[in-house]
Amino acid sequence: MQRYDIAIIGGGIVGCCIARQLARYDVNVAVVEAANDIACGSSKANGGLVHGGYDPKPDSMKAQVNARGCELYSQWSQELGFAFERPGSMVLAFNDEDRHTLDRLRTQGVKNGVRGLAIVGPKRIHELEPRASEMAVAALWCTQTGYVDPFDVAISAAENAAANGVDFLRGHKVTQIAAKNDGFEIETSAGSLWARRIVNAAGNGCAEISRMAGAEKFNLVWRQGNILVLDREVHPYMPLYPTPTPVSKGVIVTGTVHGNTVVTATAAIREPGDTDTYAADMQKLLDGAQKLAPSLDTRRVIRAFAGGRAVIDGLNDFLIRRSTLVPGFIQVAGIQSPGVASAPAIAQKVEGLLREDGAVLHERADYQPLRRPPVDFDQLDIDAQDELIQKDHFWGKIVCRCETVPEAEVIAAIHRTPGAVSVEGVKRRCRAGMGRCQSGFCQSRVVEILARELNCTPEDVLLEDAGSQIVSGPVK
Ligand SMILES: Cc1cc2nc3c(=O)[nH]c(=O)nc-3n(C[C@H](O)[C@H](O)[C@H](O)COP(=O)(O)OP(=O)(O)OC[C@H]3O[C@@H](n4cnc5c(N)ncnc54)[C@H](O)[C@@H]3O)c2cc1C
Repeated sequence: MQRYDIAIIGGGIVGCCIARQLARYDVNVAVVEAANDIACGSSKANGGLVHGGYDPKPDSMKAQVNARGCELYSQWSQELGFAFERPGSMVLAFNDEDRHTLDRLRTQGVKNGVRGLAIVGPKRIHELEPRASEMAVAALWCTQTGYVDPFDVAISAAENAAANGVDFLRGHKVTQIAAKNDGFEIETSAGSLWARRIVNAAGNGCAEISRMAGAEKFNLVWRQGNILVLDREVHPYMPLYPTPTPVSKGVIVTGTVHGNTVVTATAAIREPGDTDTYAADMQKLLDGAQKLAPSLDTRRVIRAFAGGRAVIDGLNDFLIRRSTLVPGFIQVAGIQSPGVASAPAIAQKVEGLLREDGAVLHERADYQPLRRPPVDFDQLDIDAQDELIQKDHFWGKIVCRCETVPEAEVIAAIHRTPGAVSVEGVKRRCRAGMGRCQSGFCQSRVVEILARELNCTPEDVLLEDAGSQIVSGPVK
């Protein structure tokens, strides 16, 4: 049985960031993930906003990690080579009641340690984002807000962790945990392992993992959200927020690191695992966007999707602490929004909890904090593109025309560690299929390349997880 010092259960953005944080120390770490790839849970279906940190209540766990996580993104993006932009954001107020909410948010933000908060009037609003509604009477401007591609963050962190010795056990659904005197025996769908300590970062599965280990009992609710993606804009929108409700930041209009516009997100309690999109939610998104940015051309929608936030019933906060019932078991549960924004700070917090739990963490002499990101052909100038094509003809074979992704990038996505094993895994790593046609042209090419590189038949190639084959046989 493979033995580890620490098993992180769950390979979402949070588990991958924790893995990266621990990879600098001389400990054996495994990420145990049920799906056949990382970042397949909530981490693949969210707005990608790195919220500034003024929204959480000051005495909450969210407040501790959101502002800090937002701050850490500058350093993490430089070290890991993922795209991060910090355009700032505005919460728009349309009446007196909203105006009072801005004051409250600013006070909270100051308490939470958020820098760069100011309340501004209509003139400044339109200097900052000329497309913001003319009906806005004031705004809370937060210079710290940013956005990322959330799966790029998780994948970058995972690649860096793997390069520093962390094992990624994908396709290993944890089914049973036996707490022993000196650690845990963990049964999975693909064999068993032993770990001295467990970090429960299992997203929608964290209540079940906690129960298996005999730790805290809690129930999760699935706060589902629908999101719309629009085609690229010449100037991506500065994130525009309405005033928040007690459970949601409301419908937000934002740019993305890839130049698209996103309208995110609705919030409704639905059946766990429900990732359907709903007409009523779409209407809420369109109405919300219209209110904040009336000139936004909502006919430019290229994709609608949904994800779910794993919310602990009765606790509108993250549960990040050592279990009081089971020694060596660290809870990182109920990571609803703002889990993306907080992930690097959650990782630091978990390191502290492991130390409190007695883990001995010595920095490794050969720790490598930097990751070399894959080449993004589309971002190169014509001479650099030409040079690559001269060296290897696969750089000249464009697979995805919408996003200009050559075959060499798809091959690299498959062979990095942990690499893509499905069409969606390729898409998350190099954007083949992410553009205007939403893979209408390139999906069959990606299937062929995956089959060739993974040495299987096209009939074996998966869209995403086990059982999601796309091709049933040749037609001619
Ligand atoms: C619509 C929507 C919009 C959002 N927008 C934002 C935003 O703009 N900014 C922001 O900060 N946050 C946002 N969030 C929240 C954010 O997406 C989550 O907080 C974050 O992705 C949680 O990451 P995670 O790693 O904890 O969970 P996940 O990504 O769900 O990862 C948990 C992993 O655990 C695995 N797992 C579960 N059970 C088991 C098991 N038994 N064995 C092994 N593995 C298991 C799962 O397969 C999964 O991969 C949004 C969420 C939604 C739904």
